[in-house]
Order: sequence, then structure tokens, then C-alpha cells
Amino acid sequence: MIAQIDDAILSGPPSFEAITQPPGVPAGLRVDVARAEQAVRDLLCALGEDPTREGLRDTPRRVAKMYRELFAGLDEDPARHLSRTFAEQYDEIVVLRDIHFASLCEHHLLPFMGRAHIAYLPNDRVVGLSKLARTVDAFARRPQVQERLTSQVADALMEHLNARGAMVVIESEHLCMKVRGVNKPESVMVTSAVRGLFRSDAAARAEAMTLISRSR
Ligand SMILES: [Zn+2]
Repeated sequence: MIAQIDDAILSGPPSFEAITQPPGVPAGLRVDVARAEQAVRDLLCALGEDPTREGLRDTPRRVAKMYRELFAGLDEDPARHLSRTFAEQYDEIVVLRDIHFASLCEHHLLPFMGRAHIAYLPNDRVVGLSKLARTVDAFARRPQVQERLTSQVADALMEHLNARGAMVVIESEHLCMKVRGVNKPESVMVTSAVRGLFRSDAAARAEAMTLISRSR
């Protein structure tokens, strides 16, 4: 039998409101908002702008708070999400597809966004589906590169879920490719990370890949 869950809980456009911090822990603790605010003001000056003109007056504060939100994952331990498992006699593949996410490319500080697809082989214990989505968010809300994001999610599934196998495929569009540099607005980057049984067992890998890439 195969468990298959279409359309993750976090479907629709990526929402930065969706992330939930543990109670009492404000998002973006590591971000020094006052310092970031000053840096944005300096940047505006460096670009030849006048940060005191009406349209830009609140921009430094707004941008500083935005970064605090975008980097909220720095304060989050994904193990927290994945530790809430429950015992289940189910040893077939679990797939969660189309987990929308948005992240920030650490080379240009421009967003990249798209969908993550997760497959794992449980080891007596399974995790709530929303926790898989939150794990993606926790790693996405940091200065990132897509390759590392993909590996981190797969490694977290292996480590914290004690999964027998994990596969993560991420498709995303990078603003730094679309609006600058090579200016290729239609390009989509696809990365995958394969761990455990999905790496050693070709049939299991093929089954996971089929479930992940079924027509959407
Ligand atoms: Zn970039």
C-alpha cells in the first residue's frame, strides 16, 4: 500500500505569516533590527538616494523588519518539529508533494521560491504532515542556496525521524536569474537529495520518484 498526500497543507502562494514560532520566542531573535535599519539607510545613501525623502522615510525600518521575518528560521530548530512523532505500523513510502516555500538566495539576497516534495520511509514512527512543511520553512527562512536547502531537509528526516530512507526534490525559480545577470525568467532549478534506502534500493527510489513527480 502506498500513502500519498496531494497538495500540502501549505498550498497557495508562499506566506511568511505561516511560520509559527514556539510560544514566547519572537521571530528573528538574531537580527539586530536597529543595526539593519542603519545599514539600509546607508545603502540608500550609497545608491545616491535621499533616505529622508517622503517615500523612503520608513523604508529602512520596514526592510529591517522584513529581514527579521525572512530569517526567522535561524532561530528555529527543525528537530523540534520532527520530534513530534507517533507510533504507526506503516512501513511504506509517505509522500508530501507541493510544499510551497520562499527563501532568500544568500549570494544576492533575492528571493527564490517554488515547491518542495518530500518522500520518506518511516521506521515505526511517522510524523504529522504539517511538521514536514514546517521543516521546509525552518530551513528556507535563512540565507540559503537551493542545493543546501535540499540536503538539509533530507538529512533532518534521516536524523530526527530516524527514517529508513528520504528523498527531497525542490523546484524553484530564482529572482537573481530572472531580473539580473543572465536574465532568464523562465528557468527553473531542480535539485534532489536521496538518502538511505532510496539511495541503495533502485526500486524504492523509482517508486518514490514516480510518486513525487506524478503530474500535478
Ligand atoms: Zn542568487
